[in-house]
Amino acid sequence: MAKQKHKTVLLDELESGPWPSFVSGLKRLRDSDDKKYAPMMNDLLGQLEHSYETTRGFWKGGTVGVRGYGGGVIPRFSEVAEEYPESKEFHTLRVMPPAGMHYTTDFLRKICDVWEEHGSGLIAFHGQSGDIMFQGASTENVQHAFDGLNEIGLDMGGAGPALRTAMSCVGAARCEQSCYNEQKAHRTIINTFLEEMHRPALPYKFKFKFSGCPNDCVNAIHRADFAVIGTWRDDMKINQDEVKAYVKEAGRKYTIDNVITRCPTNALSLNDDDTLEVDNQSCVRCMHCLNVMPKALAPGDDKGITILIGGKRSLKIGDLMGSVIVPFMKLETDEDFERFTEFAERVIEFFAENALDHERVGETIDRIGLPNFLEAVGVDIDPNMINHPRTNSYVRTDDFNEAAKHWISRKKERAEGKDNIRDDFVAAAE
Ligand code: SF4
Repeated sequence: MAKQKHKTVLLDELESGPWPSFVSGLKRLRDSDDKKYAPMMNDLLGQLEHSYETTRGFWKGGTVGVRGYGGGVIPRFSEVAEEYPESKEFHTLRVMPPAGMHYTTDFLRKICDVWEEHGSGLIAFHGQSGDIMFQGASTENVQHAFDGLNEIGLDMGGAGPALRTAMSCVGAARCEQSCYNEQKAHRTIINTFLEEMHRPALPYKFKFKFSGCPNDCVNAIHRADFAVIGTWRDDMKINQDEVKAYVKEAGRKYTIDNVITRCPTNALSLNDDDTLEVDNQSCVRCMHCLNVMPKALAPGDDKGITILIGGKRSLKIGDLMGSVIVPFMKLETDEDFERFTEFAERVIEFFAENALDHERVGETIDRIGLPNFLEAVGVDIDPNMINHPRTNSYVRTDDFNEAAKHWISRKKERAEGKDNIRDDFVAAAE
């Protein structure tokens, strides 16, 4: 490399911990013989070291995009381009990963070829948003890179006030806890709302995430405005022979201390003959016992999804977990998927029309009250949505009392066979 290497005294510190550091990766590219990446990475490291020294960021935004799309590129122009000219433009392309993040090695090689030709060679699998982050393209190369990626079947993800790239867990392909077809649900939603992703017109970002079971491997409950989490409403399945084998190997004391007493709702008990009893009405699907005894315990047969709305990281009113809006819904047949998509449409429409600028849907619900939101999206109130309704800041007591009266009368009607609501929005606990 002709130009002298920038010093990296502070960045070197990041390599001293136990985990691999991105700094080592950047240095590897800097020290390669490659005439394109080496100078770019040298200047990138130089600017980053300068940021650490001054505790200031030196990237500014701008307008960079690809033809036909309103978002998906994160522009990065250097404010200190004179000192670090080789990395003066370092834009990121957010690209949607396949549902469940399943790749073939052949496909990964093709992705790398495109990015080596048009970008810096740096790829992050995957960003917090779920995207494949192609980091480091010049303004001129953004379009070429996108065309290359598009040709092999990838499409731009979301950025700005728009529907964002969705994420789904690896799902039934490799996980026995999966309770629905996560990949199909993911693709159905994204294909339906693709316009909202590529032409930002919402008040703020809106994210869908899909987890196959309550382990919630994609962190849907606190990262998604619309979290879809697999669950079941019948009894969990028990293989008592496997329970006995587990107890025999681990010991009674270990089993009691690490499985039975760790159930948050005291739903488990171990019999004298080392068989397990589960009080399924009390189980809150925390997944602990299923995770530690996967051969002995499994989700029930009557599987479906729970929909939670309003999760997000900190913004105006702090971090929020999603609230249960649909306690249980089947998601198997074409009609189920249609109903599911219609519900998602109602939520997005509500958000588009009622949220303030820069307001996530969880904040909108906090502002207007949960009963109003439920009315707007056409869901009857259900006590299973709320743990302690009278102490929950989402709920105005008067509204809730009215709605609760309605729910009780509806429940009576259902018992008498008069109620005509669809049973897919009926709670698991009933
Ligand atoms: Fe208890 Fe959790 Fe097991 Fe349910 S899943 S029985 S709540 S430990």
